[in-house]
Amino acid sequence: MIPFSPPRIDQKIVDEVVDTLYSGWITTGPKTKKFEKLLTAYGGHKITLCVSSASAGLELMLRWFGIQEGDEVIVPAYTYSATANVVVHCGAKVIFVDVTNDFNIAADAIKKAITPRTKVIMPVDIAGWPCDYDAINALVRNPEIKKLFRPQTKEQHMLGRILVLSDAAHSIGGQYHEKKVGNLTDITVYSFHAVKNLTTAEGGAVCLNLPEPFDQEIIYQELNAKSLHGQTKDALAKTKIGGWRYDIIEPGYKYNMTDIQASMGLVELARYDDDMLVRRKQIFDKYTRDFSKYPWAQTPEYECSGIKSSYHVFLLRIKGISEQQRDQVIQEIFNREVAVNVHFVPLPMMTYYRNEGYDIKDYPVAYDNFSREISLPVYYDLTDDMVDTVVKATVEAVEKEII
Ligand SMILES: *Cc1c(COP(=O)(O)O)cnc(C)c1O
Repeated sequence: MIPFSPPRIDQKIVDEVVDTLYSGWITTGPKTKKFEKLLTAYGGHKITLCVSSASAGLELMLRWFGIQEGDEVIVPAYTYSATANVVVHCGAKVIFVDVTNDFNIAADAIKKAITPRTKVIMPVDIAGWPCDYDAINALVRNPEIKKLFRPQTKEQHMLGRILVLSDAAHSIGGQYHEKKVGNLTDITVYSFHAVKNLTTAEGGAVCLNLPEPFDQEIIYQELNAKSLHGQTKDALAKTKIGGWRYDIIEPGYKYNMTDIQASMGLVELARYDDDMLVRRKQIFDKYTRDFSKYPWAQTPEYECSGIKSSYHVFLLRIKGISEQQRDQVIQEIFNREVAVNVHFVPLPMMTYYRNEGYDIKDYPVAYDNFSREISLPVYYDLTDDMVDTVVKATVEAVEKEII
């Protein structure tokens, strides 16, 4: 069986983790702080806070911005549940909008969904392909739209407009007009979950890139406390002589990253651009070439005029196929010992959101993308021979179903 997304675990990762274990410091400490500095240099944003997951990071930032009951947050209908669930946790209303043919949130649909209650837009770079950030950033700065904004908290007054909080769970290393994902919007959150491009087993990072007059150093300190029960000192600071006394300034969360996680991240980041992304791009190129012979195959966009994917998963679509046929094709691919997937079932189709009154009929492009989509594996240890096997299994399965 060709697995869908195994992590790259080799001696380097093992050695770095073992080094952390024997160091006597296994929770948040020097390696997490080092990983944060290197992530800041990598993304080109202003400062980074590592957290226990992207979900934690997204929720932390919604809470920081004061999101609560009565607020609306715009989320694409086509994403993983984390993006919307964190909005529900805050008591705010999720406003789903439709996506475009490239799977990402549609800027014109965002514009139509904005009301005086809108506080945040959460674009998601599906499969690593950056959203249309020029359009989204221009939208929130548009004077007519700024006039609608009703700030309630100190942070909302300071920003004076809708916040753009990017869910970059797939897209670390992606590029948009020469800038990396991380410094494209106000705040970007990476995921380092086991199946993501760069993994720490579980983990995430908040990339701060807020405009003037925000002081990112001060916000970092606030968030650091917020991610550790509102405690004024972290565990490392408390071990310093005389450092035992601390205060609780708010009832915060427990969202910190450990040095065990960070040690994996340090190894992954050091070889990310020159090794990991190179291999991922080769796999994308090969799938694109191999499927170009088949008129039924619709391959995704992943590189054009200054925009580059992080090559997270290969979203193949089959032209003119129904959802039921697609499901059968997937079964046939599995019968050939190849694991594939679907990214994603649109959230309005999920029981919870359906019961809340959302209807997939309002998101026709999301449904069309989903119903014809099959995610093909992309990972460092996937060899060319394995890619050949995936392509062969897919072609046989499709031809069996369609012809
Ligand atoms: C994986 C994923 C998340 C959640 O990441 P965690 O680190 O597991 O919390 C959020 N959004 C999208 C689009 C994802 O794929």
